Amino acid sequence: MDCKPITSLAELDCLQSAYLPHGELVEPRKAAMQLSVRGRNILTQLHRGSCLCGRVHFETRGKLRGIVYCHCSQCRKQSGHFYAATNVQDDSIDISGEENISWYEASEFARRGFCKNCGSVLFWKHKDLDYISVMAGSFDQPSGLQGESHIFVEDKGDYYRIDDDLPKYAKSGGGVVVAADGQD
Ligand SMILES: [Zn+2]
Ligand SMILES: [Zn+2]
Repeated sequence: MDCKPITSLAELDCLQSAYLPHGELVEPRKAAMQLSVRGRNILTQLHRGSCLCGRVHFETRGKLRGIVYCHCSQCRKQSGHFYAATNVQDDSIDISGEENISWYEASEFARRGFCKNCGSVLFWKHKDLDYISVMAGSFDQPSGLQGESHIFVEDKGDYYRIDDDLPKYAKSGGGVVVAADGQD
C-alpha cells in the first residue's frame, strides 16, 4: 500500500489509500477530498449521506467531531432509541432536497429535521449556534466516525445498558451544547 501525504488532487488517482497532511488515513475513492474553498492550500475530507428514501442528500466538508450519544427523552421519543450525532459548521454542509425536510420545533431552543417522506431523522439545529448536528447513521459508509461521549444518561431508557468506556454525563457535558442547556 502506497501511503504518503497528499499535496494535490491528481495524486489521488494512483493511490489506494493516503494520508492527509495532519496524518489522517483516508480512502480516496470513498472519502473523496477536495482543496479547501477557504484559500488554505490543504485537502479537506468530504462526507456524504442521505435519508433512507434518498430524497434528502447532504455533503459535509472537513473533519467531523466524534459522535455524541444523547439519551435524553426527546431524542429517545423522536428516534425510537437514542441520538448518535456529529456536527458541522453551517457553511460546511450542502443539503439537497431541503424541501423534503420537516423541521419539528421540539423546544424554544432547537428544532429537529427529518425526511417527510421516509421519516429518517437527519438533523438537530440550535437556533443560536452556527453549526448543525447530523445523525451518524445517515452517513454513507465507511464514515470514519467514532464515538466520543454519552450525554443525558440519567434520562436514558430503562431497556438497555451503556457498556463502553466513553465519558458519560448525567446531563449535558464535554462542551456539548444541547437544547436543555439554560433550562435547568
Ligand atoms: Zn427520505
Ligand atoms: Zn437528546
